[in-house]
Amino acid sequence: MKPRLIIGNWKMHGTVPDALKIITGLEHQLKTAPEVEVAIAPPATALYTVGVSIQESFLLLAGQHCHWEDKGAFTGEISPAFLADVGCLYVLVGHSERRQHFGLTDEGTNKIVQASLRNELIPVLCVGESEAERKNGKTWEVLDRQLKVGLAGLHTKELEHIVIAYEPVWAIGTGNTATPGQACEAHHFIRNQLGKRFDAPSANAVRILYGGSVKPDNVEAFAREPAVNGCLVGGASLEAADFAAIVRIMERVPSSATTEGKK
Ligand code: PEP
Repeated sequence: MKPRLIIGNWKMHGTVPDALKIITGLEHQLKTAPEVEVAIAPPATALYTVGVSIQESFLLLAGQHCHWEDKGAFTGEISPAFLADVGCLYVLVGHSERRQHFGLTDEGTNKIVQASLRNELIPVLCVGESEAERKNGKTWEVLDRQLKVGLAGLHTKELEHIVIAYEPVWAIGTGNTATPGQACEAHHFIRNQLGKRFDAPSANAVRILYGGSVKPDNVEAFAREPAVNGCLVGGASLEAADFAAIVRIMERVPSSATTEGKK
């Protein structure tokens, strides 16, 4: 298995000076993190400067979103080629805020996944059900559709360059984190679907991150779960001390006996 991956999604927060302040804090708190991979996804306007400032550090750079074309008349959009150009390794694809507020469809996520791979970026495909979908027993149907359509047309070999983030929409920014059991159940379901669609060894090598109100005081329970291969952190990644604490816990706490919920 690849190392655990922790990604800090800063969303639309932070000017360039704000971004550099967080980076300085992070580098001060965490000199290195050899056991895990740590990426930060600042706003697009700060990507270049942050990219230059972390060049010599262990921190990796991620984009929050990109367009599916490499260039063209798409005012206001960001090309995947531009993300690669400023040093991004990862890009979030289909974050629920893009789906909810900007009408990104599953078909759109698929085009962005393809465009990311074409530009040697690792897409982090975000999937997750809304509160109503969970209440109505639609969780597995939604996850299945988001995966099936989002990864359509990919070859088994390409799965090596994909990360999945399970982010139940009801847990994002709400403080209502999923229980480790709920997260595990979803992660097992996702891996199972990947195994059916591609093959089991390739599916087993995919990192599946949990995202949704991850904080220093709840991350340990996720770190103990073998089904959780890292986390996608929003709000708590804006505080260097909190994000550093999450990284340290993800680095040091070994996964142990799995909880309930094998799907
Ligand atoms: C996110 O933005 O992907 C996220 C999980 O946010 P938060 O940690 O604030 O819930």
